[in-house]
Amino acid sequence: MIYLKMWSLAVVWISSLLVSAQAQGTASLWKGNDRSGRCQYSFTVDSPKEASCPSASTGTEMEALKARLGLLEVLVARLAGGEAPGTVAGAGLQEAHSQAMRDKAQLQREKTQLQREKDRLAQQVEDLQKRVAELQKEAERLRSRPCPQAPPPSVPQHDSGLRPGADPSWHYGGPAYQELKAEVAEVPAPSPENPEDNTGCGELLSVGEPVSHRKADSIAGKYGVWMQDPEPEAPYGPGMLWRVDTVGSEVRQLFGYEDMQQLSRGFPTKVLLLPEAMESTGAAMYRGSLYYQRRRSRTLIRYDLASESVAARRDLPHAGFHGQFPYSWGGYTDIDFAVDEEGLWVIYSTNKAKGAIVLSQLDPHSLEVLRSWETNIRKTTVANAFMICGRLYTVASYTSPNTTVNYSFDTSTSQSKAMTVPFKNRYRYNSMVDYNLVQRKLFAWDNYHIVSYDVRLGKQQ
Ligand code: CA
Repeated sequence: MIYLKMWSLAVVWISSLLVSAQAQGTASLWKGNDRSGRCQYSFTVDSPKEASCPSASTGTEMEALKARLGLLEVLVARLAGGEAPGTVAGAGLQEAHSQAMRDKAQLQREKTQLQREKDRLAQQVEDLQKRVAELQKEAERLRSRPCPQAPPPSVPQHDSGLRPGADPSWHYGGPAYQELKAEVAEVPAPSPENPEDNTGCGELLSVGEPVSHRKADSIAGKYGVWMQDPEPEAPYGPGMLWRVDTVGSEVRQLFGYEDMQQLSRGFPTKVLLLPEAMESTGAAMYRGSLYYQRRRSRTLIRYDLASESVAARRDLPHAGFHGQFPYSWGGYTDIDFAVDEEGLWVIYSTNKAKGAIVLSQLDPHSLEVLRSWETNIRKTTVANAFMICGRLYTVASYTSPNTTVNYSFDTSTSQSKAMTVPFKNRYRYNSMVDYNLVQRKLFAWDNYHIVSYDVRLGKQQ
């Protein structure tokens, strides 16, 4: 019996050694009495694969986790519109893209609608402007008509109280008619005995103080040209003033103002888009047309205001352009139009004249050169030039606050002479000077300011 126990002990010991070798020292052996008092040997060893023994409760937790996962998948699939969980992200993107496309289409529709609305409003403005022009024309016509002395015989006299439309006083005796009659009576009669008085021509004796009518509110108005047509044509009236801001390389906008007040307030009643860009501040307005130099060329353009289109174009022979012979101010003022009592002129220079001012009178219809004069005044040394009564005048400086009108050239004698008529550049950057024979003023554009100067003409003592 003892032998058997010893042998068993040996077997257990050897087995424990083997197992402990596999379990890398995590096995242990112990002995003790069992419940019946017999000695019992036990050994324990760690599982090489499992950290703990599987139990019934772990299995339940796993099942619960699976169920929760399943629920989450169902929820996600429902949120994504019933799709399987694997396609959720793709479907979301697709939906967002479709929405964006729908929004874009909607925006496009709204844009088209706004454009249509804009076009409709522009048409209305145009119609209204046409109507205003027609009414002005009608008013002009009424003013120039002789006053009727008696109502027409067909108008019955006795029932005027009953039919206002046929009331002779409504037609002829109303306050509006009286006003017109008064205005007609005020027009001064021409003086046939002294025709010189009508032109009032003479030499420039003095230039008054500059008066600023409007200061431009943006850099676009630092320099430019403003004009008034001395012989306007329908649909524009005699009070109409025009303005072009010439800053920039694509100068195309021509603003029209009903009168000086509207110009001062900065409210144009007409905006025209020129078909070809303008260069220089030398444009002029005459007999219903705007005359200007086409950008980067010696091409002269006559733009007809009524038809809003180019009516004539012609190259000015040999004229320097785009900085070849500008005024001292620069600004590509190589070609400068002018209008006076004798018609339409253009002031420029040529290589042949070696930079001296050349003056040509133009046919206002075709732009053909009618006559030319070569002066001895170097164009690049003077600030600007203008014409009054067939005489050319030049301004000495565009920046000096107290400068002079320093030369004149008389086309009737082909003689030039030096002079010293004081002239003020109040804002010290005068980019344009031209004579306006309607107001008998010089129009100028001095550093954002639209200014005018009174002039006094007469005979030099
Ligand atoms: Ca000029």
